[in-house]
Amino acid sequence: MRSYVALLILLLPLLSVAQVDTTQYIVPGRSNSALQQKKPYVILISADGFRYDLADKYQAKHLQQLRSNGVQAKSMVPSYPSLTFPNHYTIATGLYPSHHGLVDNSFYDKKRDELYRIGNRKAVEDSSWYGGTPLWVLAEQQQMVTASFYWVGSEAAVKGVRPTYYYRFNDSIDIETRLKAVKDWLMLPEEKRPHLITFYLPQVDHEEHMFGPDSKQAEEAVHFIDETIGKMVRITDSLKLPVNFIFLSDHGMITTDTVNLLAKPAAIDTTKFKMPDGDVLVHMYAYNEKDIQPTYDALKKEAVDYDVYLADNVPARWHYGAADDWYKRIGDILLVPRAPKSFNFRRRRPLPGKHGFDNALPEMHATFYAWGPAFKKQLTIDSFENVHVYPLIAKLLGLAITEKIDGDLKVLKPILK
Ligand SMILES: [Zn+2]
Repeated sequence: MRSYVALLILLLPLLSVAQVDTTQYIVPGRSNSALQQKKPYVILISADGFRYDLADKYQAKHLQQLRSNGVQAKSMVPSYPSLTFPNHYTIATGLYPSHHGLVDNSFYDKKRDELYRIGNRKAVEDSSWYGGTPLWVLAEQQQMVTASFYWVGSEAAVKGVRPTYYYRFNDSIDIETRLKAVKDWLMLPEEKRPHLITFYLPQVDHEEHMFGPDSKQAEEAVHFIDETIGKMVRITDSLKLPVNFIFLSDHGMITTDTVNLLAKPAAIDTTKFKMPDGDVLVHMYAYNEKDIQPTYDALKKEAVDYDVYLADNVPARWHYGAADDWYKRIGDILLVPRAPKSFNFRRRRPLPGKHGFDNALPEMHATFYAWGPAFKKQLTIDSFENVHVYPLIAKLLGLAITEKIDGDLKVLKPILK
């Protein structure tokens, strides 16, 4: 017994360091205006990496039933690059990644001489990286209360504003706790009850990366998501509130070639270019502009299984060229592998599932389902770009859009009653 106590005392500092922040943060002094209290509710759910075909591939019964009572898109086209941070923030702002500033999961800002990395807490919570007006900021500016159980950008005070209720990202909070938070929010008195709730589920993406999109593990993660949505809908049904659901994802996933990996091209002189780590998109930021053209020419000669672009010859449909690079954060030269090939400069263990490739690839396409009192029933629509979700949600909540966005309400208005 004594040794057990001694061990516990020894471990205590470790345990307290490892202890995770499960706090719900509440911004004081916020409430819905009388006008906003009359508005419906929107729960925006993202299941990371939930490719457009997964609900049918793995028979996600709740989702199949819910979408049949609402709207489903054949697929939703992610913005380029088809990566998690750029796309969640595109959904939140209605802007292409080049226009909101999160141009990749990791990138370099020449003017600041700083790197943004998703693993860097300080950067993630620093609002100066984030452009646009995220939906929760738009709502709070118009005196509508919002809540977030995670979303990219919600942990930074973009334009000085965070959601009224939010959490710092911590994957270890169990799903029942998360669902209970949603229930508790919707049971608050009307002036404190959030009308927009964002909710993020990472499980499918994680399993697909580790085991591939065709794996048993990916299938189980899809069923976990499906059960979670089933539970959430049972909760909201019991509350008898006008709740509109949007279930979507940020991107799809493809099975990669884990045997024939692309090595670092010989034409790259790393003393001449700053290059953050990348496997499906490599940015090369030149220290000296005169090195760009000769290196590009050499890379073009060498390139097999990947494409090389200069800022002025990036495919226009990506909105990722020099003219679109509002924050000057996109590389001077881009290396883009052709799926299922990917780069592996640092010889890490290759992952069998990846995304981030050309957003025209069907495997990169995301899911979009919507149901609830505002939506038409039994409607299937064509694929559309994810920039159009923002004006749809603004319309659902009766919020005025205050700055120019890339999305257009015309695209999704026909899904509303
Ligand atoms: Zn993702």
